Amino acid sequence: MSITVSNLGKRYGQQWAVDHVDFSIQSGEIVGFLGPNGAGKSTTMKMITGYIPPTIGNIEVCGIDAVENSIETRKKIGYLPEHNPLYLDMYVLEYLDYAAGLAGLSGIKNRKEAANRAIELTQLTPERTKKIGQLSKGYRQRVGLAQALIHNPQVLILDEPTSGLDPIQVMEMREVIKNLGHEKTVLLSTHIMQEVEAMCSRVIIINQGKIVANGGIEQLRNNQTFNQCTVRVEFSKPLSNPWFSEISAIQSWKELNPSTYEILGNATDLREQISRKAGEHGDIIIALQQEENSLETIFKSVTGHVGRI
Ligand code: ATP
Repeated sequence: MSITVSNLGKRYGQQWAVDHVDFSIQSGEIVGFLGPNGAGKSTTMKMITGYIPPTIGNIEVCGIDAVENSIETRKKIGYLPEHNPLYLDMYVLEYLDYAAGLAGLSGIKNRKEAANRAIELTQLTPERTKKIGQLSKGYRQRVGLAQALIHNPQVLILDEPTSGLDPIQVMEMREVIKNLGHEKTVLLSTHIMQEVEAMCSRVIIINQGKIVANGGIEQLRNNQTFNQCTVRVEFSKPLSNPWFSEISAIQSWKELNPSTYEILGNATDLREQISRKAGEHGDIIIALQQEENSLETIFKSVTGHVGRI
């Protein structure tokens, strides 16, 4: 295992920002850490990276006890914080050389090699001779990522790495992270479902400090316990008076065209109830299809929030 946390908690005053959580991440996984604002993502990441101590619990990173031995642990981890401060007056190469020194790399040759490697991995080559202050937000974020990578860590912890970037930069950043995932273990936080679908093999969802879902994306989609489903139904002719509210499990519906509806309900399957009710009303169904649970539906179901997509 690359990361194992057990019974991990952080209390601020009366509030458990992270409330006794357990999870583990295997080497080579890219795991999305998903949750609404204030769910506890950053706090968990700061504890894993040794920036803040836990109130309770254990953390192991690459076999090292991260609570007892945070200096050794930091050598294994590259951390991109949510608000990453950069020296805007420094040049990219100069800054990465400085970061390499801070990370303990000695000798000009070693530092230069590390900086060039990080530049290559983050696809910063065209911008490497510019001042950080002259770079776009997306490239600045890549400088932060290059800094996180400078000591060639086995584990990357990325706190909302694409936050605030434009759609093209988001796509490029996702590509960079996916490539990094070929050789490193990555835990990245986000509150965007698409991000997880685009990059991750597994998702851990946190809400109000507690883990509410943990699994492979397909596994979560097929998990019946989420008790949410979306059904698309087409009738032979438009309904004069849609009767969907007569089925208590149906929460909402929308008309896609005059004879086709998309229906959302809190049940694992609504097809039988809809068919029966249509029969009672003398309406003829010509197509009835239950959609695969999207991550957004799951997110909504486990957190009570409407996810941003
Ligand atoms: P976001 O997506 O908005 O970054 P998050 O999931 O990263 O949110 P955290 O930043 O971990 O959430 O915060 C979790 C909870 O802990 C929030 O209610 C927050 O207000 C609280 N919190 C975080 N840091 C502190 C602190 N230093 N002192 C007091 N409360 C804090």
